[in-house]
Amino acid sequence: MLNYEELRRFMVMRLKESGYVKSKSVEEALLSVPRELFLPDNLRHLAYEDKPLPIGEGQTISAPSVVARMTELLDVREGQKVLEVGTGSGYQAAIVGKIVGPKGHVWTIERLPGLAEAARRRLEALGLANVTVVVGDGTEGLASEAPFDRIIVTAAAPEPPQPLIEQLREKGVMVIPVGSRDFQRLEIIRKGERGEITVTYDIDVIFVPLVGKYGWPEG
Ligand code: SAH
Repeated sequence: MLNYEELRRFMVMRLKESGYVKSKSVEEALLSVPRELFLPDNLRHLAYEDKPLPIGEGQTISAPSVVARMTELLDVREGQKVLEVGTGSGYQAAIVGKIVGPKGHVWTIERLPGLAEAARRRLEALGLANVTVVVGDGTEGLASEAPFDRIIVTAAAPEPPQPLIEQLREKGVMVIPVGSRDFQRLEIIRKGERGEITVTYDIDVIFVPLVGKYGWPEG
């Protein structure tokens, strides 16, 4: 029987050593969410390897180092309103949900209803009442809950979707992989006090495509 808690502590230690985990808040979130519960039964034993893994319907859960990196870049704080596009397993949403805490809220959008339902069940089982899973095309954002302090996109976009930039609050931050269908770079998009946009770049990544009106066409 694998001791998942011990494996989880080792994983976080390695992520700190390699510089992916920098802040106390990201460290604590990674320690408090059991990644094995976000995987299909037959892959659970791989939960604490630093690898992306299949979660069904041709989609993947990101490697822990990528989750850590993106969460650090997002610079999430307690009490914030966050939008995630690409719920997948729900793991990234759970990590952000832990950091924003009960005074904050995470809305996470998934286009595939089966994945959304499975994620909803996992988040509920973990008692994460501040995370709401929505089925739909996340490239259009979620106008009813906008503006957001933070937006994280966990699927590969050809360009940052315009509705997401509009739904970002002043002084807000968005992290999004931008590039081709099979190779991207993380972009950090900041909105200034007067709505001005600045973009910086981070590591290269590989995400499944963001499919939708302001993303890639299907197929
Ligand atoms: N954050 C996830 C991993 C994301 S995988 C996790 O922690 O497990 C990317 C997900 O984005 C896939 O589930 C895919 O179905 C979804 N997706 C792709 N295009 C989308 C869109 N336009 N709106 C919402 N979800 C989308």
